[in-house]
Amino acid sequence: MTVRTRFAPSPTGFLHIGGARTALYNWLYARHHGGTFILRVEDTDADRSTTESMQIILDGLKWLGLDWDEGPGVGGDYGPYFQSERNEIYDRYLAKLEASGHLYEDDGAIRFRVPDKMITVSDAVCGEVSTNLKEQGSRRYDAETKKEVEANPDIVIKRPNGGYIFHFVNVVDDIEMAITHVIRGEDHLSNTPKHLALFEAFGTTPPVYAHIPLNLNPSGTKMSKRDQGALIHEYQENGFLPAAVNNYMALLGWSAKDDQEIFSLEELKARFDLPGVNSSNSKFDYDKCRWVNSEHLKHLSAADLLTRARPFLTRAGIEASDVRAPAALELARDRAQLLSEIPAVIATIFAETVTYDEVSVTKAREKNDLSQVITALADGITAADDWTVDGIKAAINEAATGIGMKMGALMLPCRVAVMGSSTGADLVPVLVLLGKDEVVKRLNGFAAMIG
Ligand code: GLU
Repeated sequence: MTVRTRFAPSPTGFLHIGGARTALYNWLYARHHGGTFILRVEDTDADRSTTESMQIILDGLKWLGLDWDEGPGVGGDYGPYFQSERNEIYDRYLAKLEASGHLYEDDGAIRFRVPDKMITVSDAVCGEVSTNLKEQGSRRYDAETKKEVEANPDIVIKRPNGGYIFHFVNVVDDIEMAITHVIRGEDHLSNTPKHLALFEAFGTTPPVYAHIPLNLNPSGTKMSKRDQGALIHEYQENGFLPAAVNNYMALLGWSAKDDQEIFSLEELKARFDLPGVNSSNSKFDYDKCRWVNSEHLKHLSAADLLTRARPFLTRAGIEASDVRAPAALELARDRAQLLSEIPAVIATIFAETVTYDEVSVTKAREKNDLSQVITALADGITAADDWTVDGIKAAINEAATGIGMKMGALMLPCRVAVMGSSTGADLVPVLVLLGKDEVVKRLNGFAAMIG
C-alpha cells in the first residue's frame, strides 16, 4: 500500500503554526514512507475563503519547503484539488447515499441518518474513543434559554442553499483521493465518529486517523493568531530559517525519544513516525524556537548564510557583495539567533563612521585613564607587523605591558573605540577584518573625541 496523506487547509486566514505543523507531519509521514503528499483546498465556504489567504498558505508551505506531489499548481490524477470545483463528485456521492436510504430532507436541508450504535475511533495517537452519535447528538445547549433542548442527531450534509457541509466533502474527498492516513489537529477528533459513520454508509474502509494534540500558548490556552510566533509569514519576516521552524514545529508534539532536539529536514524525514507523536498538548515557547534557529544558523554553509542574510543586510544598508561580508557573517553567526539580528552585530565593520554607545563609553572610562590606554593601543597597533589574530593579540599585550596593565584591561576600551559598543562580534577577528589602517584611524578618532 502506498501511503497517501493530505493537508487540507481552508483558505480563510493566515497559515498558522498549528496548520503548518499539521502540514509538516503529513509531509514527513509521506516522505518517511515513500508515499504521496497531497494539498487539498477545502474552500466550500465561499463567504470566508479568499484568494489572498490561499496565496499566503501556498507561500508559507513553499517557504517551509513542504512540497506537494498533487494539488494546486502541480495537478495529479485525483483532481481537481479545490473542493469548490468538485461539486459533480459530491452530487454523485450524495446520490449513492440517497439510493441506500441514508438521507432525508428536512426543511430544505439534507440530513444523513446517523446509526444508533457505538462508533469507535481507533486513533494512532489518542487511542480508542467511542461515541454513539444518536445519543450524543440528540441534545444541544440552547444559548437563548440557557437549557439543554432536544436536537436532531442526524447530520446536515447539504444546506438549503445547496452548499455541502464539511463532514461530507471531507469524507468524499478522502475516499476519492485514496487517502490512507489522516493526520490532523485534535480539534477534529470529535468529528471523526461522524466521518466513520459516513465511510460505513459508503461501504468504504476508512483511513488511519492520527489526531495531533493541540499547541497551547505559554499561558496554557489555545494558541491564537495574536500570540507571538503564531503566523508562519512572520517567521520569514523576523529572520527565522525554514529548517529551524520545521525543526521546532516537529518538536511541538513529537519527539525522537532520545535527547536529540536539533534535526535537519532530512533527519526528520528519516526519523519521524506516528508512535513518536505525544498524546499530551504541547506548549509553544518562542525562546526555544529562537534557540533552535540559532543552532541551525551555526550549521549553515557559508554560501547559504550569505544568501539568506542578504535581504536583512540590504535592509540595514550593508552591501552583501562587500568582500568582507562572508567573514563578517562568520563572526555574526555565533552572536545572533535570527538573521534579522545579524546586521546589528556586524554593522560597525561596514560603517563609514563609528557610532558610539554612551553607556559603553562610560564603562570604558570607569577603570582607566582612557586617553593613555587608547594612545598606547594606537601606538602598539601601528607597530604591529603581523596582521593576524595572534599578531594583533601580541601587539595589544605589548601595549598593555608598556603602561603597566594587563592585556584583558585593554580589550574593552579597544572594543568601544573601534566598534563603538561593548557588545557585538568578537573583537580581534573584527580588527583583522577592518585592516590596520582603519583600526588606527578609529583609535585616533576616538582619542580625539574623548580629548
Ligand atoms: N479543512 C479542515 C481544517 O482546516 C481540514 C480537516 C481535516 O484535515 O480533515 O481544519
